[in-house]
Amino acid sequence: APMSRAYNFSAGPGALPEPVLRQAQEEMLEWRGARASVMEISHRDKAFIELAETAEASLRDIMAIPANYKVLFLQGGATAQFALLPMNLAAPDQAADYVITGAWGEKAFKEAKTLCSARTAASSADSNFTTVPEVSTWALSDNAAYLHVTPNETIHGVEFYDLPESSAPVLADVSSTILSRPLDVSRYGVLYAGAQKNIGPSGITVMIVRDDLLERKPRPMPQILNYKAHADNGSMLNTPPTFGWYVAALVFDWVKSEGGLKALGERNERKAQALYAAIDGSGGFYTNKVDPRYRSWMNVPFILANPELDGAFLKGAEAQGLLGLKGHRAVGGMRASIYNAISEEAVGVLIDYMREFQRSHG
Ligand code: PMP
Repeated sequence: APMSRAYNFSAGPGALPEPVLRQAQEEMLEWRGARASVMEISHRDKAFIELAETAEASLRDIMAIPANYKVLFLQGGATAQFALLPMNLAAPDQAADYVITGAWGEKAFKEAKTLCSARTAASSADSNFTTVPEVSTWALSDNAAYLHVTPNETIHGVEFYDLPESSAPVLADVSSTILSRPLDVSRYGVLYAGAQKNIGPSGITVMIVRDDLLERKPRPMPQILNYKAHADNGSMLNTPPTFGWYVAALVFDWVKSEGGLKALGERNERKAQALYAAIDGSGGFYTNKVDPRYRSWMNVPFILANPELDGAFLKGAEAQGLLGLKGHRAVGGMRASIYNAISEEAVGVLIDYMREFQRSHG
């Protein structure tokens, strides 16, 4: 069949860098002299252990992760961490503060409520999650186990890095922003991300956790749910998602070859600015309602003034090779997810399509 690979604006699983896919394709049958594919060998094999160590070293290098943090490669997605974070870090009667700036933070909060005294320190629900409450208004609990934030809300397209001077460690769901720009790891106690946006295939979850937090023992814990047990076993307490780990390692190499997070951040900012400028410059044909201070560089939701045109917009987009633009049902309209693997050229093609669609339907 002819290749008809398109520009993929899917929110996740999302686009991966083409050189990574090509290398995985080349190495599919025989991985580096293993005489088998990488997913057919033991995770205890010396070659795989080396891959795991190299992947961690690359991520440490890319993100400048301080030595007093562990890097874990887990399963269960970010959603499993919504439950495992309170289980591992908060006692049943202990307060934990949540700042809710979108649908994912809300889910994290609901899950935590079953496990500890989770509280909403701040929420932008009454703005339909189009802004971020000022840090000075956050109602922080005394002696909270932690403060949970979602720096990038994938559905609502809201991104922020403001944090209070808080003694509680900050736990951040960075599923849809990790590796998109430089981030000061030392401001956070835990950073965690499902892989399927900027890291690799779904099925693997990256967690960066400060050492002292692994020493908390708020309740009896089964080994398999216990972060400390995973850390003590090099994330190989049981069979890990080896193929995902392998692809993540390739993506980390790609990030380095692209110049690292500073270069990617500059490119991502240009992509986002171009797309928001096109939306804002459309005379109301397209709208993004997010407070400009908090507009996401990764997920750009926008609505058409006339929602009856949604179907035609999506159909025309697909015909032009622009996929995955349908917005989440919670927001409606469109959403362009412009992760690392989406080039400036791809964003340009999208903008051209949007202008052309407006010309023919405006
Ligand atoms: N948090 C955020 C910010 C997300 O974008 C997603 C998935 N889109 C999740 C959590 C849930 O992740 P998973 O499906 O890996 O559990």
